[in-house]
Parts: sequence; C-alpha cells; structure tokens
Amino acid sequence: MSTDLGLPRFAPRGVGHLRGERSFPAAARDALADSQLRRNLGHATSTIRAKRAAVVAERADWEELRAAGEAIKAATMARLDEHLERLEAEVTRRGGAVHWARDAEEANAIVTRLVAATGSREVVKVKSMATREIGLNEALAAAGVDTQETDLAELIVQLGGDLPSHILVPAIHRNRAEIREIFLREMPGVDPALTDEPRRLAMAARSYLRERFLRAEVAISGANFGVAETGSLLVVESEGNGRMCLTLPRTLITVMGIEKVVPSWADLEVFLQLLPRSSTGERMNPYTSVWTGVTPGDGPAEVHLVLLDNGRTATLADDVGRAALHCIKCSACLNVCPVYERTGGHAYGSVYPGPIGAVLSPQLTGVEDNASLPFASSLCGACYEVCPVRIDIPSLLVRLRAQHVEARREASRVPSAEAVAMAAAAWTMADPRRFAAAEKASRLGRVFGRRSGQLTTLPPPLSAWTAGRDAPRPPAETFREWWARERG
Ligand code: SF4
Repeated sequence: MSTDLGLPRFAPRGVGHLRGERSFPAAARDALADSQLRRNLGHATSTIRAKRAAVVAERADWEELRAAGEAIKAATMARLDEHLERLEAEVTRRGGAVHWARDAEEANAIVTRLVAATGSREVVKVKSMATREIGLNEALAAAGVDTQETDLAELIVQLGGDLPSHILVPAIHRNRAEIREIFLREMPGVDPALTDEPRRLAMAARSYLRERFLRAEVAISGANFGVAETGSLLVVESEGNGRMCLTLPRTLITVMGIEKVVPSWADLEVFLQLLPRSSTGERMNPYTSVWTGVTPGDGPAEVHLVLLDNGRTATLADDVGRAALHCIKCSACLNVCPVYERTGGHAYGSVYPGPIGAVLSPQLTGVEDNASLPFASSLCGACYEVCPVRIDIPSLLVRLRAQHVEARREASRVPSAEAVAMAAAAWTMADPRRFAAAEKASRLGRVFGRRSGQLTTLPPPLSAWTAGRDAPRPPAETFREWWARERG
C-alpha cells in the first residue's frame, strides 16, 4: 500500500552507479570462486563485528538510542520538504549557495560547472557515497578535471583502478600485501623499499596526499548530516583527510542526498552516538568537521551545497519502503550479513552493497531495474538487529520480492517454475489425503543421497531449488507415522 503524500508524480528514478551489468547470482558466482577475497572479507568483517559488539554493550540505553534514532528519522521524512527548505534558507543566509539536482546527471552538470568557474583543473575529495552514486569522478574526468580521492581506502581503490566494495571500508576486499603492490605500481615517488606494514603504507599515502592538499583550490565532499536549524553540514571521519579538504581549499562543494537532513542539533546528538559505535566500533569518531556557510578569513571563501534527489522522492512516496532512507550508512548490516561476507560488495552492482543496498538500490531505480537484489538475502534478520536506526530490512526485502513477483505476473501470462511449484504445494497441502500421499511418495527420494544424507538433484520444477542448494534426504518415517506409532 502507498500513501499519497502530495509528492510530484514525475519524481525521477535514480541513475548513475546504482545497477550492475549482471544479476546478483551471476556476479556472486564469480566472487564465491575467489578464495582470497573471501578470506579478506571474513577477516575484516569479523574484526569490525567484535569491535562494534564491545562498544555497543557499554551502553545500557542502546535500545532507547536506537528507538530515538528511528523516531527522529520517521518524523523528519514526514516533513522532509519543510526541513530542506529551512536548510536551504539557513545555508544561504550564512553565505553559502544551494543547488537542487533532480538526478545524477543534473548533479554532475552542476558540480562540473562550479569547478569550471574556479578555473581549477584538479580537485581533492572527501569520501562520499553520494558522489560515488552519481559517478562524479567520471563526469569531472570527461570535463578535463583531475579528481584526487584522499580517504586512504578510496585512494587504494582509485590507484588500483578498482571499485569500492563496502560503504565504510571501500577497499575491504584488499589485504595489505595487495595494497603494497598497488602503491609500488601506481603511486608516483613511492619508496621502492615500502613494506606491507600498515604504518608504512599510511605514511606513503600521507606524503603522497600532503602535496595535493596544499595546492588544491577546490574540494568536494559529501555530508553525513545537514542540520536544518542552522544550515550546518557535517562530515565524520577517522583520518583527518576530511578536515584538510574542508578547511584548506578556497572553494568547497558538498553533494548531499536529501534524506541526510536532520531538523536540529538535539536530533544530531542521537546520531553522533549511534554512528561511530555502529560503523567503526568506536565510542567517538576521531574527526567531526562542521561548517556553517562562509566565515570570512576562516576556511573556504565559497561554499556550495548540491541537494541530490536521484530516486529519493520516488522512494519517499512509499510510506513503508521509505524506511530505507533512514539509513545513516554505518555499514553494520554489511558486517553481519552472511551473504555479503561471502560475496563482497561488487556482486551487488550498485555502490550500495549488502542488506541496505538490497533494499535501497531497487527503490531508487525502480525494482524491475534491480530485480535480483531483494533475493540476495537469507532473511536471517541479523541486519535488523544491528541497525542503529532499526530499519526492518528483512520485511522490506520480502515486500520488494512481492512487488517483483507481482510485476512479473502482470507482464507475462506464462507462470514461472517457482509459481508452478508453489501452486502444486498449496494444492497438495490443502487436503490431508493428498498430503499423506505426497509424504509417502517423497520416500522414493530415500533411494538417493544415501551417503551424504542430501539430495543434490531433483526433477523439474524442484530442480530450480537444487540448482543452488541441496535438499535433505526424506526421513524413513513421516511425522504422521511417528505420531500413530507413539500416541496410537
Ligand atoms: S541499514 Fe542500518 S545498519 Fe545498514 S548501513 Fe544503514 S543504518 Fe547502518
């Protein structure tokens, strides 16, 4: 069910890096064959999981904090238009300029125009999911502007000609030996005696980036939050590269999804407690940078805010599905997801991987454009348990699956193998005699799978099930037979 919120009917669907070229199962198959990738992911996610669990356990009021985060997000979404207008008014009043972008292409055109107006041919960047989503680096490159990522993991991804695979740790799929190789191969002026010791790798990145920070005239960032009541924008980070980008250059351009607005500083307080514990497993992130318009003689002289829709108002129009917009991009759901841990982020195709990607990307693009993602889950519920703003991802996944099945049914008169199997199961289970006969017939399956206790191949339409997993060998005695024997 959806509610008419008075939103424009022409709310644009998201474009940019939100879809893969292949379906999730096809891409996941390749990822599963890469044992090094699985080792890297297993090691990294288990380390972050343990850190998160320890710092969350310190807070007796964690559940209350989560409930507060959920309530603030729901209330903000209900009056998003008002909060955005307030944000725009406050940013403008304090000397900043606000630009509205309906989709990725418009956002890229705005940023490219702003950079061109400065006369600069290079920019430094703070890690930002929104700019990844819209493909800003590619758009700037096409306009002859060189973009330098300054977050360490983003730098590794950029130098490696690679794609990010995690919201928080974009290079999670790389181990330190691989990072050393990338630095030796791609980083100009790097010490050939570089080792894979983390401190040495960080020092190499620091000296490479320092020179770029000092000469950059333009910086581009995302924003973790925008506070409507004062027009303040925030970036939370761990390395200090963000602080350098946000303070040194003359021009600062921020691209922020419209869902990132919070009404007040009191609301922000809740999220600044939830986010670091859920993302890096820290009580507090090392750097929280806040800027409010322009302050003469202090920081950038020109401040721009690009507010990005790109499918968000279309998502907002669904009063259940819009919960995906509550996400604060902490990545806790990725780190606990058994599917993500095995496939990594590239298999999802979108810049938003893992459980949140499986519900956010199909809503931003329209579910038929990302139809396989809602099925990339075991529905174990671990993502819901860790989510700091209590997004019920499993329910959203089931809902999106239903929407896809419904759309497919409307588009085709030929029922799918799954629909045939389900109809047959419903017919069988609707009658006790039919069900008893089916139970007896299933015993034929005992002929197979004697050694392993598993059936690896079943005839159609059940072959669709065994194509991806085994079925247990039927028991020698049915439940009804056991009941009759034991209870008469
Ligand atoms: S859905 Fe929840 S757990 Fe996942 S990234 Fe978003 S806020 Fe974090």
